[in-house]
Amino acid sequence: MYNLKEFNDAEIIGLIEDGKIGEKDFIDSGICPTCFDRENNHLIYGDKTDTMIFEDDLFECFLVKRPRADGHVAISTKKHFKDMMEIDDDTCAKIFKFAKKLMNILKDVYNAESVYLCTMCDGPMNHFHIQLIPRYSFENRGSTNFVKPRFDYKEDKEKVVELRKQMSK
Ligand SMILES: [Zn+2]
Repeated sequence: MYNLKEFNDAEIIGLIEDGKIGEKDFIDSGICPTCFDRENNHLIYGDKTDTMIFEDDLFECFLVKRPRADGHVAISTKKHFKDMMEIDDDTCAKIFKFAKKLMNILKDVYNAESVYLCTMCDGPMNHFHIQLIPRYSFENRGSTNFVKPRFDYKEDKEKVVELRKQMSK
């Protein structure tokens, strides 16, 4: 168990590269792993170039590496917020408008019957994010869609290109 607050960034990077620490050590040390990852070349969660759908000054959204459905995406603020309850109204409104746009695009590109939205961010050191999970015609409606088993993301380049194109409009 490392208290990462006793180390400088270069030392922490060394510990990650040696495989000695991971996400949990950051959380236990009271350091946001998402913010650290972004500021340090995505050392914790890996490069997202291939899965990134949209990025600007305010937020980014990307296809998740262990999705619960094809087209499962996360939207995350660039700035650190613990959860939705501490986001200022202006940013919150922008996020929901953005999420609405993306939900319609996901429905279209993935031919989903609906798209579900959830945000939980409950724990000692969270970085606010929203999850959008498509629900397909062959699946039952309802809350069980939030806990569908996760699987490894399979790249579909055509869909990624289409998502990026529609999000840039
Ligand atoms: Zn953060």
